[in-house]
Amino acid sequence: MSLTTTLTSALGADSWSSDPEKIAPHVEEPRGLWHGKCRLVVWPRSTEEVAKAVRACAETGTPIVPQGGMTGLVGGAIPDDAGAVAISLKRMNKVRAIDPVDFTMVAEAGCTLLDLQNAAKDAGRLFPLSLAAEGTCTIGGNLATNAGGNTTLRYGNAREMVLGLEVVTAAGEIWSGLRKLRKDNTGYDLKHLFIGAEGTLGIITAASLRLFPLPRHTQTVMVAVESPKQALDLLGLLRDRTGDSVSAFELLKRICIEFVVNNESAIKDPFAEPYPWYVLIDVASGRPVADDVEAALGEAFEAGMLLDAVIAQSEAQANALWAIRETIPIIQKAEGASIKHDISVPVSRVAEFLEKAIAACEAEVPGIRVCPFGHAGDGNIHFNISEPKGGHPGFLDLYPVFNRIVHDITVSMDGSISAEHGIGVLKKAELAERKSPVEMEMMRAVKKALDPAGIMNPGKVL
Ligand code: FAD
Repeated sequence: MSLTTTLTSALGADSWSSDPEKIAPHVEEPRGLWHGKCRLVVWPRSTEEVAKAVRACAETGTPIVPQGGMTGLVGGAIPDDAGAVAISLKRMNKVRAIDPVDFTMVAEAGCTLLDLQNAAKDAGRLFPLSLAAEGTCTIGGNLATNAGGNTTLRYGNAREMVLGLEVVTAAGEIWSGLRKLRKDNTGYDLKHLFIGAEGTLGIITAASLRLFPLPRHTQTVMVAVESPKQALDLLGLLRDRTGDSVSAFELLKRICIEFVVNNESAIKDPFAEPYPWYVLIDVASGRPVADDVEAALGEAFEAGMLLDAVIAQSEAQANALWAIRETIPIIQKAEGASIKHDISVPVSRVAEFLEKAIAACEAEVPGIRVCPFGHAGDGNIHFNISEPKGGHPGFLDLYPVFNRIVHDITVSMDGSISAEHGIGVLKKAELAERKSPVEMEMMRAVKKALDPAGIMNPGKVL
């Protein structure tokens, strides 16, 4: 039986399409950076249907590309083979169970992150994963990329929020690993192979997730600091004085604020005068935190750790401060072409990294505008470089040059060339160059063991 005949008889005629119009959103990256191709798209409604679709592909040697919200930034979800099948998990969007006693939630892979945050909130619990794409990205994609985000400092990456997984293997078998156990030392912990694998080992169809107490009190502040070093000293003090309740710690260079207020009239600079660096901070707890935060900021000011502070007095003011941070990656386009990096170094070396990387890039092309921002509390900086004002012919051709400069400095500090966005196709060649041969060999062995025919998201990661 042909692939399409099998899909129609096993899943129904409305579960797949080869219509170019319907396929279009599944082969285009939303920013237009990658344009792919595929034979057809399947939209299964259940784990059993995913298994049937994968079996049909396995029997015909058809490459499979799992897809969630398509918000990934490294081209991992874009099929690039006219014979490939994209399997979109969007129809699998049910929360199967929430258990407030266990502090767990079982959700299907196609649920958006925002829907899961809201479902947990309705049950009086917190699902803490949070990132700017949360209205569109799916939990399946979050787990496949081991997403980080604004709360990693306090709650860890997506990986740390998982107790169990349900997976359809490359052979089309269902692994029902939806355990809710906090303790389970029974051999290899297989769920961790699928988390962060970017769909190259199997398809995640559901997850058993950890929930946390809902913080009843959140204090948002933006502080101005002289340098990243000062910012990190402040982080240590705040963690100490607030019972480790700092849930977000986002560093911004002055130019980031300028980009936002110059290009987005609805957003104003919260400070009366300019400062070199800023940090946007959330402190969240079940208990009131405002007094502790104010006292800690006062102490930091006395100790010369900060220059100025804006303390949000309402949710609206907190949202306005967060709007600055969330607008940076979007607004950078208005300032011309940019080259982006998503690196991490040990937290203790963030200041040194920034100093060296900014100096090296500015020396390479005078006039470029380095716009670093991000999750400094996790050592993760989005090190973005905008072309000089007025433009620079061929700026984007300098991508490999800046990549080499920034990544060499990162690696020299025991850092990572991809802190949270993954490898996909964007960093595939560099992965092989930067990882040791023994690490690459172990990764290839895992791939061969779980996907011997090489049909799961071929050409990505490895
Ligand atoms: P997709 O883009 O659809 O897929 C991503 C990868 O996962 C692909 O390789 C795909 O094949 C695979 N995949 C998808 N679903 C499954 C599944 N069910 N089973 C197996 N494999 C699957 N990322 C961060 O980590 N932190 C951030 O703070 C952050 N901020 C962002 C802000 C913006 C504005 C944007 C656009 C992106 C941001 N990202 C961030 C990147 C992106 O949102 C994350 O990588 C997200 O986890 C991807 O989820 P998705 O559902 O869109 O996955």
